[in-house]
Amino acid sequence: MRVAQLSHCFLIPEFWGDIAKDFYWKSKHTGQFLDYNFDVKKGEIYIKCMEGATTNICYNVLDRNVHERKLGDKVAFYWEGNEPGDVMKVTYRELLQQVCQFANVLKSQGVKKGDRVSIYMPMVVELVVAMLACVRIGAVHSIVVSNGFYRGDKLINLKVIADDALQKFILCGVFTCVWFRQVPWNPEVDQCWRSLLSGASDECEPEWCDSEDPLFILYTSGSTGKPKGVLHTVSGYMLYVATTFKLVFDYQPDDVYWCTADIGWITGHSYITYGPLANGATSVLFEGLPTYPDVSRMWEIVDKYQVTKFYTAPTAIRLLMKYGSEPVQKYNRESLKVLGTVGEPINPEAWQWYYSVVGEKRCPVVDTFWQTETGGHVLTPLPAATPMKPGSATFPFFGVVPAILNESGEELEGPCEGYLVFKQPWPGVMRTVYGNHQRFETTYFKKFPGYYVSGDGCRRDKDGYYWITGRMDDMLNVSGHLLSTAEVESALGEHAAVAEAAVVSRLHPVKGESLYCFVTLTDGVGFNRTLEAELKKQVREKIGAIATPDFIQNAPSLPKTRSGKIMRRVLRKIARNEQDLGDLSTLADSSVIEQLFLNRCC
Ligand code: AMP
Repeated sequence: MRVAQLSHCFLIPEFWGDIAKDFYWKSKHTGQFLDYNFDVKKGEIYIKCMEGATTNICYNVLDRNVHERKLGDKVAFYWEGNEPGDVMKVTYRELLQQVCQFANVLKSQGVKKGDRVSIYMPMVVELVVAMLACVRIGAVHSIVVSNGFYRGDKLINLKVIADDALQKFILCGVFTCVWFRQVPWNPEVDQCWRSLLSGASDECEPEWCDSEDPLFILYTSGSTGKPKGVLHTVSGYMLYVATTFKLVFDYQPDDVYWCTADIGWITGHSYITYGPLANGATSVLFEGLPTYPDVSRMWEIVDKYQVTKFYTAPTAIRLLMKYGSEPVQKYNRESLKVLGTVGEPINPEAWQWYYSVVGEKRCPVVDTFWQTETGGHVLTPLPAATPMKPGSATFPFFGVVPAILNESGEELEGPCEGYLVFKQPWPGVMRTVYGNHQRFETTYFKKFPGYYVSGDGCRRDKDGYYWITGRMDDMLNVSGHLLSTAEVESALGEHAAVAEAAVVSRLHPVKGESLYCFVTLTDGVGFNRTLEAELKKQVREKIGAIATPDFIQNAPSLPKTRSGKIMRRVLRKIARNEQDLGDLSTLADSSVIEQLFLNRCC
């Protein structure tokens, strides 16, 4: 409660102004600390932070650490490949050298300030090098996951997709492409990373950028529709991710931090690259799978590097939970101090397993709610300071002012449920949809003028805790009763046989919509009529007769985005037997779809 109250009354310019003093500014800001319009009725939506200041984020996360803070010899990343034993490490000094070299390579290829550079690389240190090299010279990166990566023992070659995309782009001016791993070669555009780097100087003066210059574009995960190019800018993003990283993970200089996200996702941008590096942290960077060569891999890595702060997604927790506690307990986890989760609502069952089995009831769990659009955490506990409630992202971060609105746009007081919105910006919020400011205003500001609309449903309990109930687009309306996906899914997840559940609506002649549930079972459990009846009973008892599922389908796998989010819009089409599945560009594994259609309940 104290945390929530604090964020309402604290003073934005003073709070962030003090934090800004820890960073290097080539010139100081002249305007207001935060200037904005959140109300479409008053004119164009804009957010500006520290206008007039100039800085460089690469300088702040590397040069400042090497030269001012004397952290040159500190390990920035322990890289752990897909194969155990395939390892390397890089210090802050080495990272700075490589970044300067690659920045010079980019310049020699004609890249200059403001240019957009697409990066399509696997989870390797060179990906961080490429990102930072772009921002060093003021170019804007746009990362699209990977060109070729290992999934267990399979090399997944995405170069074919990249080549296809390039065919289209070449017409508009792409002329070169640097490859890091061995892939089928196209001499017209492809060049080798290593040979380019070996000839480049390791000195490169940073390009000083305005606070509101674009920093990167990142396409949203596409769980609810066509991906949008979210644009973040330099200074506000830098301050916000550095501060949320420091406070939410209670960062200490001797920490070994590990975030399992992909860098091609916002979590990787903010909490593998920029947040940890801004603090001079040592991180683990992992290229492999949590289940390869076996389901103990994560805990083996925790033990090996003595990881102190660990950050993963509910999808990974639920996946590993399927195999029980034995694979976790094989390894020592005494080093762990804070456990984080992000990406989807975490059902209390998975939260308890994470807290009790992985963290041995010692480590606070920080359930961090945020979005590509928010840049960093917006609802989150602070470890050991916020009393936890399993499944709740608890309270807003400093300076974040949420509200819950009803369908008519009225702010609800006290315990309530409705649309989660934000009343004012924080430094790290997105500035526009790249190339389409109108889409930005329509998506986030039109429905409820005066507020940023997150698109998520949310409940506030009597103690003021916030509980995300899932995307509003995914809500179920059964006989006029609105049900959240998170609520029904967690009721299913409480059954010992269920590892993961996803609930969507199927049209019903009387009720309007009925519940169609997909369940992935715990390892070794078979699907049968008795289990189906038990699951229906469980949901009825937990939520009420209105929520009794009409259909339960056994789903060995669920369609997920590459960042691990369940694509309920695809499941809805399957439940309704609609063949046109919409935009599938971010679907991680398309082979699951056919199987789900085959097993459909009629
Ligand atoms: P993305 O922009 O791809 O990271 O997706 C953001 C969405 O993920 C949010 O709008 C939520 O629906 C969901 N999300 C992220 N973190 C959480 C969390 N801790 N609890 C509940 N939902 C979350």
